[in-house]
Parts: sequence; C-alpha cells; structure tokens
Amino acid sequence: MKRLVIALGGNALLQKGQRGTYSEQLSNARRTAKFLADVIEKGYEVVITHGNGPQVGAIMLQNEIAKNEVPPMPLDVANAETQALIGYMIQQSLQNELRKRGINKEVVTLITQVLVNKDDEAFQNPTKFVGPYYTEEEAKKLIREKGWVMKPDPRGGWRRVVPSPDPKDIVEKNIIRDLVDQGFIIITAGGGGIPVIKENDTYKGVEAVIDKDLASALVGKIVRADTLLILTDVEYAMLNFGKPNQTPLKKVKLEEIEEYYRQGHFSPGSMGPKILACIRFIKCGGKRGIIAHLEKSSLALREETGTIVVP
Ligand code: ADP
Ligand code: MG
Repeated sequence: MKRLVIALGGNALLQKGQRGTYSEQLSNARRTAKFLADVIEKGYEVVITHGNGPQVGAIMLQNEIAKNEVPPMPLDVANAETQALIGYMIQQSLQNELRKRGINKEVVTLITQVLVNKDDEAFQNPTKFVGPYYTEEEAKKLIREKGWVMKPDPRGGWRRVVPSPDPKDIVEKNIIRDLVDQGFIIITAGGGGIPVIKENDTYKGVEAVIDKDLASALVGKIVRADTLLILTDVEYAMLNFGKPNQTPLKKVKLEEIEEYYRQGHFSPGSMGPKILACIRFIKCGGKRGIIAHLEKSSLALREETGTIVVP
C-alpha cells in the first residue's frame, strides 16, 4: 500500500499573469486533475490538500468593495468559502478525469477545521499579509474601526496582517482517516484549514491563516502516509537560492536538511514552510517528503526529479 498526501501550490489553479477568471481556474484545475490521475492510476492512495492565497484575497476584496450592501464575513468564513470553491473545481475535474480513464474511485471535499493554540505567540505577532491593498489613510481608519493590524507591504500600499499560528490538530481527523481507509479520495485542509481555537470545550473560528504546507504535514501524520508530495512552481529546493552559486537539493537526509534550514537557505512564507513540513513529516514516521514541480509529479515519485527528504 502506498499512501500519499499531495499538497497543491498556487500554480495548480492560477498561472503567473492570469487574472483568476472562472474559466482560467477551471482549465488549470482540469490540467492539475490529469497529473493527479496519473498518480492515482499507478495505485497510490491519494489525499489532496491545496493553498488559497489568491482566492482568499479575492473574497476579502469582494467583502471590502461590497461592504455597504452586503455584510462582510470574517476571515475564517472566507477560508471556508475557498475550501468550497477550490475543492469543487478540483473535485469535479478529478471525477471527470477518473471516469474518462475508467478508474472507479470517488472524490469528496471536506470542510476542514484546524486547531491552533490560543496562546500561540503568532497571535501577538501577526506576520502574514492578506487581502486588498489600502492607502495609508484607509489603513489607519481600519485600524481604528476594526482593530485590524495593518502594515505597509514591501510590494507597495498598506495591507492587513494576520497571525499565522502553528497547526496542532485537525478537528475532522477521524473522518479523514476513515474515508481514506475506505478508499475515497479526499480534498482536505484547503488553504491550510479553517483556524479554530478551543475554549471551554467549544470550537471557535479565529481571524488567522494557517500555512498549507504545515497543515499538509499534519494530514500526512493523521492518515499515516508514506510520502508527502509538495507540488509547486520550482523543480527543487535550492541552496543559496537566487545567488550565482545556487544548487538544487536532490536526495537529502533529515539531519542535513535541518542544518540547511537553520542556516536560512529557505525563505519564510514560501520554501521555508515546505522544508519544515518535510522535516516534521519524517519525524513523525513518514518515509519521504518530496518538493517538486507540479508537472513532474510522476517523475518525482520515481525520484527522478525534486528534492527528496528521507530519514
Ligand atoms: P506555493 O504556492 O507552491 O506554496 P510559494 O511561492 O509559496 O508557492 O513557494 C515556492 C517559491 O519559493 C518558489 O517559486 C521560489 O520563488 C521560492 N523559494 C524561496 N526560497 C527558495 C529556495 N531555497 N529554493 C527554491 N525556491 C525558493
Ligand atoms: Mg506557499
């Protein structure tokens, strides 16, 4: 039995330079479904996770523009909306692709809540830019009126920053495990999952975002996957990334990659969490953490491309 968690990056649904129309996202989803079906066809049991950066940004912008007509929803709800919208497109595309190939497997998207610690230090130090860009004047008004934390984005303009707490557990973990054991293909923990805290034995959504790669490592642990396959828009994690002496990392042992991680080779918020996800996955019993290009997923499983982290 080969059980695999596949984490889809932003390029699975949006290519560079696209505006994000429905037809663009759907045609990307259909293309992605082919790569997923190639893997499923080889007999892997697959669990799918995905990011949601551009989509959640668009929903927050819609909330902002329409706020005088339609009451805006909080960030945990926006995240749930992206799980549905992205889940739907991948679910339907994959169902169609599997039927076409005569593969008799069912696909379902699960609204997933991810538990974070309410004392997580991230809540004292929000770092993650989300949503639309505002002028300084608008930003100061939002700080006063909504109590948001707003900071100048290095790319220009002011933006809201929210905490990115560490994922600790998945509320629906037993359902996820059962469905995978029964042979269903599930799409779960979309956008890193809806962040919730537990207070007096009650779950409550919080305005934060969870990194999808770290959430995927948690999914891998829960379903006892052998492999965590993180698909993105580069073929390898690099040492000295962006410098003349940059070198791709191929097969690398846990201890070695931990050392590179400590040395700061992987940018926080992009490659950093992918590496950390692989490290955590291996430490809780996973056999391989792979970071590879979306289009090379099958090659990566044969270990012919990609950065492959092993115990
Ligand atoms: P995804 O949507 O797949 O999570 P990200 O943009 O978050 O994509 O992460 C992939 C990006 O990480 C690459 O496009 C690259 O620009 C950046 N990156 C940062 N550090 C490294 C590194 N050391 N090696 C390779 N890519 C890196
Ligand atoms: Mg990312």
